[in-house]
Amino acid sequence: MKKEPVKIKERDSVFRVKGFQEVVEGFFEEEALQEAARCMQCKDAKCISGCPVGIDIKAFIGQVAQKDYRGAYATIRQKNNFPSICGRVCPAEYQCRKACVFTKRGEPFASSQSIGINFLERFIGDYGAAEKLAVEAVKDEKFSRKKVAVVGSGPAGLCCAGELARRGIKVIIFEGLHKTGGVLRYGIPPFRLPRNVLDFEIDSLKKLGVEFRTNTIIGNVKSIDELFSESYCVVFLGLGAGIPAFLGIAGENLCNVYSANEFLTRVNLMRAQEFPEAHTPVNVGKHIVVVGGGNTAMDAARVALRLQHMQGIKPDTTIVYRRSEVEMPARRLEIEHAKEEGLKFEMLVKPEEFIGDDSGFVKKMRASRCRLGEPDNSGRRRPMVIPNSVFEIDCDQAVIAIGLGANKILTSVTPELKTDKYGDVVVNPETMETSIKGVFAGGDIVGGEGTVIEAMGMAKKAADSIIKYLEKCE
Ligand SMILES: Cc1cc2nc3c(=O)[nH]c(=O)nc-3n(C[C@H](O)[C@H](O)[C@H](O)COP(=O)(O)OP(=O)(O)OC[C@H]3O[C@@H](n4cnc5c(N)ncnc54)[C@H](O)[C@@H]3O)c2cc1C
Repeated sequence: MKKEPVKIKERDSVFRVKGFQEVVEGFFEEEALQEAARCMQCKDAKCISGCPVGIDIKAFIGQVAQKDYRGAYATIRQKNNFPSICGRVCPAEYQCRKACVFTKRGEPFASSQSIGINFLERFIGDYGAAEKLAVEAVKDEKFSRKKVAVVGSGPAGLCCAGELARRGIKVIIFEGLHKTGGVLRYGIPPFRLPRNVLDFEIDSLKKLGVEFRTNTIIGNVKSIDELFSESYCVVFLGLGAGIPAFLGIAGENLCNVYSANEFLTRVNLMRAQEFPEAHTPVNVGKHIVVVGGGNTAMDAARVALRLQHMQGIKPDTTIVYRRSEVEMPARRLEIEHAKEEGLKFEMLVKPEEFIGDDSGFVKKMRASRCRLGEPDNSGRRRPMVIPNSVFEIDCDQAVIAIGLGANKILTSVTPELKTDKYGDVVVNPETMETSIKGVFAGGDIVGGEGTVIEAMGMAKKAADSIIKYLEKCE
């Protein structure tokens, strides 16, 4: 008889909304063993093809079931440098768990019966961190005088650096912000990804010899040419997608209308919730509206809700999304958590205009109701405005979270670096090499907003090409 899935422990929503403590608490050993024992060890393990970096999921779960945790850690690390991170943020419900044999064919997301692959990965990643299972660098004479510059310290940059450093290649990461981690630090809140988990992975890279230069914007402080003249043999670009998109509607420039990037950066990176102990303030409205349906919208809304609780404001934060819940790109787990925490949802609603008060502060949003039409290019059903359905929502703060695009600081001063119509860097998909010899790229700057594991997958591919490139170059 099929055993029931082990339910993952979570902090009670009543308490967790009052702070930034991690929501999901993870498996104890007994629970991990029980969950691993549910795995059918399928002959043709489809879950592996559901993983963008091809972790041998069947093997590592088998090792967990045998209590061979070190073996499981080694198996995952062959393909994934940051299991503790990916075990927390990977959209497993669209990837490995959707491909699990316990998810029926045609289901839009993984079944709740699918094996908790992400939770087991997290269990093993945390075990590796607790046991300090560091990856040793293999010294290779042929690389001893080669130096690589990595631009950007998000998952793409960190992953590429890790892959190269473990082959004994000297890597320096240049990061424009004052802290490392990219979206993992300034975007994803600590209640989803605690900072000690991220810091552990970054410290492990430092132990491998990777050096970090923060507050250094390449394209501004120095150019790619200058990096080459400073004897870097290769440059890897992991610039991410850091420029927020806006709705382009009237009133969007009113006071207290934020982009999600600014809002999340203030809190996650600058600790605005601790103002005035921290330097950066953030406004917290009485009626907050967050526009969008992706992870960024969900994170911004759950942060806003927490700030309302923490400041003693009666919580009133609403997600406004123009399609229905099925089409929301956010992780299913995060949507469930948001509902438990008391976030409101206005589905099938399209913002039309922000209305301000006499001082120029937003006070209302005018919006139209929608219905779903035929699928568009994304495959999701298109929102169609219902005529004469305009209504108003009270909102003294709005956060726009409808997408991110390429930051052009570097590409605009490097005309020989080929970009596409969105400003993303064009690469050879086999090698991840750009139009400039010796310059490689990966992550969200290639092909736009994606996921952490996709960024890492591209970075790994680029690292393999860089190693081949370095083997040939003098
Ligand atoms: C709020 C939010 C929540 C998300 N949640 C999830 C999730 O739950 N699961 C998931 O899989 N994905 C999630 N994503 C997407 C995921 O975080 C990204 O796909 C991933 O971070 C991309 O990695 P990257 O390294 O390409 O870019 P980034 O993480 O954006 O890192 C790029 C880094 O490069 C730096 N940089 C840029 N230009 C320069 C320059 N010229 N010089 C020096 N440094 C530079 C930036 O400051 C930044 O630190 C989320 C994204 C956001 C915004």
